[in-house]
Amino acid sequence: MAKMNIVVVGHVDHGKSTVVGRLLADTGSLPKGKLEQVKEYCKRNSKPFEYAFLLDALKDEQSQGITIDTARCFFKSKKRGYIIIDAPGHIEFLKNMISGAARAEAALLVIDAKEGIKENSKRHGYMLSLLGINQVAVCVNKMDLVDYDEKAFDKIKVEYEEFLEKIGIVPRAFIPISAREGDNIVKASKKLSWFKGHTVLSTLDSFEKAKAPEEKDFRLPVQDVYKFTKYNDDRRVVVGRVESGSISVGDKVVFLPSNKQSEIKSIEGFNVEPRKSISSGYSAGFTLKEQIFVNRGQIMCKVNEKLPYLGSEFKANIFWMGKKPMISNKEYKLKLATSDVPVRLHRIVKVLDSTNLAASCKQQIERHDVAECIIHCKKEIAFDLASEIEATGRFVIVDNYDIAGGGIIIEMIKNEEAGIIREDLRGEVCPITLNHSKEFIDRLKKGDVLEILIDHLPAIETIGNFAFKHNLQFSFEKLDKKDIKIVIRK
Ligand code: GDP
Repeated sequence: MAKMNIVVVGHVDHGKSTVVGRLLADTGSLPKGKLEQVKEYCKRNSKPFEYAFLLDALKDEQSQGITIDTARCFFKSKKRGYIIIDAPGHIEFLKNMISGAARAEAALLVIDAKEGIKENSKRHGYMLSLLGINQVAVCVNKMDLVDYDEKAFDKIKVEYEEFLEKIGIVPRAFIPISAREGDNIVKASKKLSWFKGHTVLSTLDSFEKAKAPEEKDFRLPVQDVYKFTKYNDDRRVVVGRVESGSISVGDKVVFLPSNKQSEIKSIEGFNVEPRKSISSGYSAGFTLKEQIFVNRGQIMCKVNEKLPYLGSEFKANIFWMGKKPMISNKEYKLKLATSDVPVRLHRIVKVLDSTNLAASCKQQIERHDVAECIIHCKKEIAFDLASEIEATGRFVIVDNYDIAGGGIIIEMIKNEEAGIIREDLRGEVCPITLNHSKEFIDRLKKGDVLEILIDHLPAIETIGNFAFKHNLQFSFEKLDKKDIKIVIRK
């Protein structure tokens, strides 16, 4: 049965555990007798029964090693199983998500109908947007406390939708629910008959599952190249682990970023018979028809499939763990799959402090911050977006031999054709800051052109000041809607 990883977020006491408890109970996913046992326990101790207790009871069993089905709690629909990614805190959660230890594919965001939108309702929204989780359903909970009133639901929906739009999340659904009463969790509720949408469970079922790695395009980061020495054999064997897709003898391949092409002649295993094809998850050696020079760090891809991006700049979300903050104007080493290149922090778009999820506009990335930023590589590398192919869309940053940060690539920055550098600052939350390196300003002074797209009028002033300060020309053009294109040149 297919499984989907989900995360349930929201302000404290808005009902996350109750939603999960209900999903477990109402889908019949609890171990036999569990519900009765917990109800009985509450009665004996004259405590009112709470669905949230079910989670605690399951966790207790798990920690004692009486594991139910998996290490994490999950429930089932007719369509698939759901694993709830549980993290002890935001720091752990963000770290796991960015390092690839645990990936949530979808999220339920719970808001209390009576209390309304709270700080964490917003911060958690930010967090989802930073992590690129875009299958989000907003559950407006405790509808019983507002008499199942449509207007109360609409008010929250309008306000929260406006906020989510700003951070680039389009929720798949807003669902009025009462987790305690079980309304609209698994069964549609008569008390909410004015609501024409789906229940929480069927909304989850409507989310798309990410493709399995073997169904994606082929990527093999080259780990090493061996030469046979016995019997005057001059073949070279390209060795690595297939991270995604599959490949067969006879397939045409290209190595990136060097762009050298050849054809697979044989697939060699370690102490096994050669095989005709191989797919993700396996390591192997490959001999090629034409002998070409390849080295560690290149990514072998199939010529007839979508290739990785090639470039020296990309937008990423970085989780920083370094003792010293990440700063611009300092060289770090970036390791992506088997390649490593010197990089610099080019610009910070926004920073989220993962201890309290407050967003800010700092100019450096401190320990436990998550930052959306632009990374500039000293030379061209091949990469994918983490949302497409994880293994080649994820990287670590090394500061002086220590792994100081992990990141996922969220956007390719177009190659700078003919000296035009483009920055898209539309939708940015922070006031714009331009702290470009001296090398960058020098490039502009030598004739490169900087084009900036914005949709926030006051940014013109900041950018104008920047041009003035560096003695550069400044012009702007109004595009459609709110968009403005600014051009800075010598
Ligand atoms: P969490 O901190 O977000 O996990 O919140 P809990 O699930 O622990 O719920 C917090 C409190 O809200 C508990 O006392 C629940 O019984 C209560 N609660 C949760 N859902 C509902 C609901 O739909 N209606 C009402 N009236 N109370 C609820």
